[in-house]
Amino acid sequence: MENLLLKATAEGVRIYTLRSTQLTEEAAKLHGCSHLAAAALGRLLGGALLLGATMKEAERLSIRIKGDGPLGVLQAEARGPFVRGFVENPNVFLPLKDGKLDVGKGVGAGQISVTRYAAGGPSFTGYCELENGEIAADLTRYLYVSEQTPSSVALGVLVSKEGEVRAAGGFFVQALPDCDEEVLKKLEHNVTYLPYVTQLLELGYGPKELLKVLTKGLDCHILESYPVSFKCDCSREKMAVMLATLGEDDLRHLAEEKETEVQCQFCSRRYIFSAEELLEILENK
Ligand SMILES: [Zn+2]
Repeated sequence: MENLLLKATAEGVRIYTLRSTQLTEEAAKLHGCSHLAAAALGRLLGGALLLGATMKEAERLSIRIKGDGPLGVLQAEARGPFVRGFVENPNVFLPLKDGKLDVGKGVGAGQISVTRYAAGGPSFTGYCELENGEIAADLTRYLYVSEQTPSSVALGVLVSKEGEVRAAGGFFVQALPDCDEEVLKKLEHNVTYLPYVTQLLELGYGPKELLKVLTKGLDCHILESYPVSFKCDCSREKMAVMLATLGEDDLRHLAEEKETEVQCQFCSRRYIFSAEELLEILENK
């Protein structure tokens, strides 16, 4: 059951489907996520992969959600088949709502921003108010309000009582400019009568099966499918560059300790810098 993203088109509509169970479990473990945080982060990682799949190779997409709920800031970055992300407060527990993890309350009200980085070129950032903090609806609203593209995003993460990610995935449907009204009506019907993504994932639906139910009654072509994974591109060198952006007084203060630990927000990896190394960074500023 590898992580897989599938790209297809159906009569002028772009349809991407995703299974991301393993990478969501990996991310949740790395960050020590509660059930709720795992669901929120898993949805965002899936959303980043699906939206990122519309971009060219070497381009990068970043989604940042800042709500007033207890989870704090959530951020994810996708580049091709790789995604990384974090949730500011991964250890949040809330009562279930209708038997489901209450991601909307965990995120709260606030803003979503999406930045698209061209390869070596300029970046574009769009903003929008959150719809309900459930992430999929927030992304759908963002695409409509900020990028003027009618789309539908669905994301689901199923977490067991023991805190294990049992299933994660979703889909992204976007009408291309030359799309026929009748096709959109059929798709809307299919999406409306579709069970929750988590229910389908639990039944063992993968990207191909999701695509099949989404495109019922439509002429559909699979373009490609490829494995996706959680991968952070942090390194000692990048952390040193980040440290060099600190003020001289701050660096001098840190160098008073024998060692300074710097942790990557995106993957929780820890890097240790000695006092000598910090002074060297200071000298090279
Ligand atoms: Zn990292």
